[in-house]
Amino acid sequence: MTELDSDEQSRGLRRAPAGGWRTAVVREVSHPTRFGVRLRLDVPDRVDHWPGQHYVIRLTAEDGYTAQRSYSIASDPADPLLEFWIERLADGEVSGYLADVVEPGDELEIRGPIGGWFVWTATEPMLGVAGGSGVVPIVSMLRHAVRVGRPELVRLAVSARTLAELPYADEFTAAGALLVLSRADSPSGRAAARIAGAELAALVPPSGPCLVCGSTAFTGAAVRLLTECGVDVHRIRIESFGPSG
Ligand SMILES: Cc1cc2nc3c(=O)[nH]c(=O)nc-3n(C[C@H](O)[C@H](O)[C@H](O)COP(=O)(O)OP(=O)(O)OC[C@H]3O[C@@H](n4cnc5c(N)ncnc54)[C@H](O)[C@@H]3O)c2cc1C
Repeated sequence: MTELDSDEQSRGLRRAPAGGWRTAVVREVSHPTRFGVRLRLDVPDRVDHWPGQHYVIRLTAEDGYTAQRSYSIASDPADPLLEFWIERLADGEVSGYLADVVEPGDELEIRGPIGGWFVWTATEPMLGVAGGSGVVPIVSMLRHAVRVGRPELVRLAVSARTLAELPYADEFTAAGALLVLSRADSPSGRAAARIAGAELAALVPPSGPCLVCGSTAFTGAAVRLLTECGVDVHRIRIESFGPSG
């Protein structure tokens, strides 16, 4: 794995990395909660990613029918395996297969890394605001910050209906993230409620990007709250996980 050249990246001298199709081997399959699956893939000759980037996973049926969807990378660039967390959607064509059928040893066609805007490489402070599976690219950023010894750069508000539905809840709790649970009280005693503007206002750093990720409804609401708090729109970067077939 190569180290990110953070100085060059912060001065905009490097483009985000991009890679073509690869055949990945599934090494680990786990179901930390019943709401999704964590896949860890071995990708020979992969291009190192920046935290926040994603891959396309393509499934091909025996009759040649293909379906492909985008999935954010959860792992730190230095992790020897590439990690994904996929929410199991009712009737989801690709997420259902990945969550319920894929086994260790299977091969998957993947293309990436992709994306150069929704990225963060621990060169400046950031606020991550994420809901549901939108926490996946944010956990990659958190893991990267921890590995390079800059966890203080990261401020986080992560949201789900309940703690059980929040991917990577343990890591976010350990990092001191604001846990926003809309249908249950949080372990810190926060009463069940959607995220409030005052909570975000208290987290916004003096400089650096606000990275907002989740469903289209979640990102719309979070961006509205951030702008109402007075955050300049140029500081806000959004990744919306809508239907991507
Ligand atoms: C850049 C990017 C990164 C993404 N990263 C992740 C990730 O890390 N983890 C992850 O779980 N998903 C992620 N997604 C969403 C993912 O690409 C798929 O949209 C999702 O897995 C559904 O695909 P499916 O084939 O299972 O569902 P489909 O068969 O396409 O749809 C099934 C039903 O679910 C609805 N639906 C489709 N997508 C969504 C959605 N995202 N949220 C709610 N309802 C939906 C459809 O309208 C339909 O009713 C990402 C999307 C983008 C664009």
